[in-house]
Amino acid sequence: MLLTSPPHSSDASLRERFHRRSLEHQRPLSTVTMAFTVVAFLSLVAARGFIGGPAAPLAYRLGWALVLALLVLAIPRAKSTCTFGAIGVAFSLALIGGLALNVAGLQQPLLWTLPAMVVIPVCAAPLWLTPTHFFVGSALFYATAIALLPGAPRTADVDIVMWMWIAAIGMPTSVVFHFGFYRFRRNHFLLEDQLAQLAATDPLTGLQNRRAFVAQAEQRLADVAQGGEVSAIFLDIDNFKSLNDRFGHGVGDLALRQVARVLLDGTAGTDSVSRIGGEEFAILLCEDLAGALRLAERLRGAIAAIERPDGNLTASFGVAEHRSGESIMVLLDRADEALLRAKHSGRNRVCSERPLPDAPLQSLIEDACGAAGSAGSRHRWEDYYLTSYFQPLFSLSHQKQVGFEALLRGELDDGALLPPAVLFAPKPSNDEGVLDRASHAVHLANARASLPADGWLFLNILPATFVADGYADELAAIVRRVGLAPQQVILEILESHGGSVGEMSRAAALYREHGFLIAVDDFGAGQSNLDRLLRIRPDIVKLDGELIRATGHGTEQPILPKLVSLLHQAGMLVVVEGVETTEELILAVESNVDFAQGYLLGRPAAQIASPGSVHLRIDDAFDVIAQGRAHQHALFESVVEPYRVALREAADALRAGVTMDRAFSCLATFERCVSCFILDASGRQLGPEVPGPAWSMEGASLHPVANPRDARWDHRPYYRNAVLLPGVAIASNPYLSLASGRPCIAVTLAAQFADERSVIGVELDWSAQGLPWPARD
Ligand code: GH3
Ligand code: MG
Ligand code: MG
Repeated sequence: MLLTSPPHSSDASLRERFHRRSLEHQRPLSTVTMAFTVVAFLSLVAARGFIGGPAAPLAYRLGWALVLALLVLAIPRAKSTCTFGAIGVAFSLALIGGLALNVAGLQQPLLWTLPAMVVIPVCAAPLWLTPTHFFVGSALFYATAIALLPGAPRTADVDIVMWMWIAAIGMPTSVVFHFGFYRFRRNHFLLEDQLAQLAATDPLTGLQNRRAFVAQAEQRLADVAQGGEVSAIFLDIDNFKSLNDRFGHGVGDLALRQVARVLLDGTAGTDSVSRIGGEEFAILLCEDLAGALRLAERLRGAIAAIERPDGNLTASFGVAEHRSGESIMVLLDRADEALLRAKHSGRNRVCSERPLPDAPLQSLIEDACGAAGSAGSRHRWEDYYLTSYFQPLFSLSHQKQVGFEALLRGELDDGALLPPAVLFAPKPSNDEGVLDRASHAVHLANARASLPADGWLFLNILPATFVADGYADELAAIVRRVGLAPQQVILEILESHGGSVGEMSRAAALYREHGFLIAVDDFGAGQSNLDRLLRIRPDIVKLDGELIRATGHGTEQPILPKLVSLLHQAGMLVVVEGVETTEELILAVESNVDFAQGYLLGRPAAQIASPGSVHLRIDDAFDVIAQGRAHQHALFESVVEPYRVALREAADALRAGVTMDRAFSCLATFERCVSCFILDASGRQLGPEVPGPAWSMEGASLHPVANPRDARWDHRPYYRNAVLLPGVAIASNPYLSLASGRPCIAVTLAAQFADERSVIGVELDWSAQGLPWPARD
């Protein structure tokens, strides 16, 4: 299956191939030596005419030469090693018969034939393909010689000497010659066989290499030219480069061998399996497209079960069926094109060569755009219906519904619903891109009647569809056909493979020209990073639900507010998804998020729903925040106030000329005090800090920046704010202290000491749970 000659081929088949090869090699050599023998025989016939005495009739002897010549002519026609051996035996016997005929009537016939008797068995070496042929042929040759050239052996001393010559010199020379020749041929054959195998094999996986695969495939395609099905499967391991880059080439090589094993185990002995290059494999099998797709799907599942250090290996597959007259390279190109689609539509899937099933898509679009349409109408697709569910989005500041995200559902005949994860699941018959386009037509048709004029429709779109040539124009045409305007549609680019950031950024400009707004979905998950945002420059960013709940390391404070502020600064509006609890809604409002979506505000429904009383819920969140802010402020102030008082006292003491240690002696005993310090007009620390109870040399991870005396601090808000309000004790927002690696706040006060402006301050450890944080602005 995998090699030109399989490594597990038995000795018998190796011998068989060797003999066939010997036949081809020895045929011309044998023909030439036998032809020379016929010429030598004719010379003997002529020479016999010059010797006196009775002789067999010339016609007989010439007739014998004709028999020999016919046997020579039979050699090129011998099909099997047996026939070839039989011709050899017949020829040597005929030769002996002819010799006997020629020397009949002579004294000492053996003397005349001695040279021939010694030389013929040696020259016959090419006639014997196998040792058996040799032994049988030689035995019959000598036996016939004894029978036909007896003379009077026991009476003639010369004959006895002749036979001894033949036995002592002729026979051993013939044996040595035959076996020398045989061994040479055999070694040559084995070496050649080994070289052919090496040249056809990929050394890493043991599979056929590209050259051998193509050669074998061309042969197979020629064989099936008369009819019969052949298909090609092309596969490429997904994200293989990252495996090499992260875990080393050894791990990559092991994965290649494991995939090769899976392919060998999963295919039949008659299929050709090859490593075509890098991490690409090809299979040629005698099946139609459906059979090849089934096999590809099985292999895809088996590869997905192979573990790699960061998860599981996956591979993408393209499958194509051979068309009459097509070369292997064209067949592979078509399979490769399907493979490319599998890559673009998310990897770990099988795509068929079939051209995009445009017909069903076009008829669905016609049907959807043409129908009078109301939300909830269904459109037949494969063995289910496609329908839309709509989930509302709310503007938090306006406390009103601003639009709907359209979500695709499949509906079976019995009414059971299939979620997008099932609809878009990788399976051979599935083409994500087509389903994606179909979903847009369905959603637009379903939204046309009930989408409020000032409402947005959010459509999810796969990156591969988003960057597809001409889709911006196509989608805009559909939007207009259903009576909506592109300005009402926001395209949410899904977090998924397919389409480079550069392509998406170029495509976004085309959609914008039509008036579409662009959103990036699931920011913070998978592929979605800041670089992607800054290059696509979406109007809206949807935050992955997990980000609502994410908190800072060691602070348990949500990071959402800062993230929202960063995105606002970059010019993007922010949506949070997955708002399920009142606490999450409050956090979203408090974090200055623009729009929110989630079960708390509205579940996906088959109809575009009116907002009901959701605005009250949002209003409540605002109230809670307003009250909470006042309460939180009071709480924070109550904890900080003693430090303010003590800091003011320390400032008075310093102004009165008391030493730093004594001035800070009270403040430095307060529970949260990390250290007390004085900074000069340029923000550098004057003298050593006075450590308090919370001082600790832990947090050594920040060791290189742990010494505050090395640094300037006049850029910090706690310094700048103090300078703006001289004489007032200011409490900062929490910050990460470089000295301790913990969240801290600083209470600072700017004052004139000995004609120089200084800022005195105390750093407080704010890492303990349950401490009030200042109300956010
Ligand atoms: P995609 O999912 O798009 O196919 O991405 P990919 O990373 O798998 O594809 P890409 O073509 O970028 O990378 C293929 C890598 O395969 C690059 C090369 O270093 C690696 N590779 C090729 N041959 C071998 C090999 O014999 N051994 C190892 N370990 N790696 C190989
Ligand atoms: Mg790859
Ligand atoms: Mg590749």
